[in-house]
Amino acid sequence: MATFVELSTKAKMPIVGLGTWKSPPGQVKEAVKAAIDAGYRHIDCAYVYENENEVGEAIQEKIKEKAVKREDLFIVSKLWPAFFERKLLRDAFKKTLTDLKLEYLDLYLIHWPQGLQVLEELVDEGLVKALGVSNFNHFQIEQILNKPGLKHKPVTNQVECHPYLTQEKLIQYCHSKGISVTAYSPLGSPDRPWAKPEDPSLLDDPKIKAIAEKHKKTTAQVLIRFQVQRNVIVIPKSVTPARIKENFQVFDFKLSDEEMATILSFNRNWRACHVNHLSHLEGYPFHAEY
Ligand code: NDP
Repeated sequence: MATFVELSTKAKMPIVGLGTWKSPPGQVKEAVKAAIDAGYRHIDCAYVYENENEVGEAIQEKIKEKAVKREDLFIVSKLWPAFFERKLLRDAFKKTLTDLKLEYLDLYLIHWPQGLQVLEELVDEGLVKALGVSNFNHFQIEQILNKPGLKHKPVTNQVECHPYLTQEKLIQYCHSKGISVTAYSPLGSPDRPWAKPEDPSLLDDPKIKAIAEKHKKTTAQVLIRFQVQRNVIVIPKSVTPARIKENFQVFDFKLSDEEMATILSFNRNWRACHVNHLSHLEGYPFHAEY
C-alpha cells in the first residue's frame, strides 16, 4: 500500500497528513512535533487558522534536530478569498511563508471557490510547487480547467469527506481529470464550533465501531483507512499525541471490499462544514449535487 499519492506534477503527496484547524497556539507546536516523530510528513495549514507561526516553529525545530529534511516534508497552506486582490494576496502569502519559516510551499490552495490564475505567478517564481483548490464543486473545477491560458492545473481538490458524505461522484470526476482529492473533517469534525448535540457522530457510529473491533483498530483508524484505500488523501486533526500516533497506524490492516461497500452505504450527504452563512452568495459550492 503506497503511503503517498502521485500528483499530476509527479510530486508525491503523503496520503495521511495532520490537520491544524482549531489546534490552539500553545498546543499545535507539540502536535506537529509529535506528528513528525510519528512519521507524518504532510501538514495541512491555513492563514485563517491563526497558528502558522507555531506550526513553523515545530517544523524548524524538527529540521534543526535533523529528525527530518525540508524536502521530505509536504507543507500545504491556503489563501482565504478576502485576500484576492493582488497586493493583499502577496501580503497574505508572505505572512504564511514567514510564519511557517519556509522558502517555499509544496501546495497552496484557494480555500473557497475563486479563480486560480492570480496564484499562478507564485508557482512561476518557485515560491509554491503546486496549486490546488478547496470546496470546489465539479462545475467550478470544470470552469477552472476550461479557462484559456491556464498554466498550472490544480493538483488537488480539498473537500469534506467521510462516511456520511462519501463524495463518490466528485471523487470520480476529479480523478478522471487527474486531480487528487483530499478529505477534510474525516472524523466528522467533532470539535467544530457550531456542533449541535443532535448532529450525527461518526466516531460513535456503532456500525463503524463494529468494523473497527473486527480489525482490532479504533473507529478513527477505520475512518482514515477508508480514505487511504480509495486513494484519497486524508488529514485528520488532533492535538493529542496518542491520537496523532493512532491516526497514522493505518497501513497495517485492510478493509475488505464488502466493508468498503458497507461504509459507502452510510452516505447521507451530511456536512459538518456547511458554511451556511455564505449560502446566499454566488459561487456557494454546496447547492450543486456534486
Ligand atoms: P477532524 O474530522 O479531523 O476531527 C478532529 C477532532 O477529532 C478533534 O476534536 C480531535 O480531538 C478528534 N480526534 C482526532 N483523532 C481522534 C481519535 N483518534 N479518536 C478520537 N477523537 C479524535 O476535523 P477537522 O474539521 O479539524 O478536519 C481535519 C483538517 O482538515 C482540519 O484540521 C484542517 O486542516 C482541514 N480542514 C479544511 C477545511 C477547508 O475548508 N479546506 C475545512 C475543515 C477542515 P483532539 O484534537 O482533541 O485530539
